[in-house]
Amino acid sequence: MEENGNATPNRFLVKFSGEYLAGKGGSGFSTERLAHVSEELKQAKAHANGIAVVVGGGNFFRGGRALPALIDRVTGDQIGMLATAMNALALRDAFRGAGLQAESVCAFPVGGGLDQYDPDSARQVLDQGSVLILGGGTGNAFFTTDTTACLRALELGAQTVIKATRVDGVFSDDPEKNHEAVRYDHISYDFALSNGLQVMDATAFTLCRENGLSVRVIDLGVKGNLQSAVKGESVGTLVDVSGGTHD
Ligand code: UDP
Repeated sequence: MEENGNATPNRFLVKFSGEYLAGKGGSGFSTERLAHVSEELKQAKAHANGIAVVVGGGNFFRGGRALPALIDRVTGDQIGMLATAMNALALRDAFRGAGLQAESVCAFPVGGGLDQYDPDSARQVLDQGSVLILGGGTGNAFFTTDTTACLRALELGAQTVIKATRVDGVFSDDPEKNHEAVRYDHISYDFALSNGLQVMDATAFTLCRENGLSVRVIDLGVKGNLQSAVKGESVGTLVDVSGGTHD
């Protein structure tokens, strides 16, 4: 296992699920959610040396296995990636509306106001103080936006991936089904693996573990959580090389 030696101190990659942005009926955009995410990001940005954002596409379309019979797996994933690109555009405007400088790019050529991602230009955008939103996933079928988040974090020198979700961290069991489930504050990759704890999909998890990239899982719904995570306060669950007292 390598240390994440490429990291720029205090630089973060934040992963938002597309699902969180959804409006009524679980689809499209909720103005309230866009405003909440923008405000959280604005507060967090004030304490960071650059924030890049990866966004999912679940508010429009998810590829993977559960597809209508007439849509091929690769096509389904391409539709999913386009959905993330639409979200990248929406977040750009919402962030700007909150007074942030923000740019969006896509992993593959798509036009429509989105330049194609390249790591060198992306680093420059971050160095100049803009928030950079990365749409289009990795650009490859069979991957996820969690994997995209870890890959881009490594490329852009982020220290930690903050996975902003609907749950308050990593638990010993499903907290919705088992009321005895405990939340961990700080665990190692090895502890998560040996206890079968779901942090991210296996590809994303391996990328983090092999490159010493930390992941903090937080509940995005709680005001101030993102800022606390950036400040290194104990919020949600931190997964890293060293781990905490549970190991
Ligand atoms: N996707 C893909 N390759 C990638 C990233 C995403 O094929 O590198 C597709 C995949 O079909 C996925 C969809 O894009 O289901 C939307 O992403 P995700 O499910 O991660 O969105 P979220 O659940 O975070 O809203």
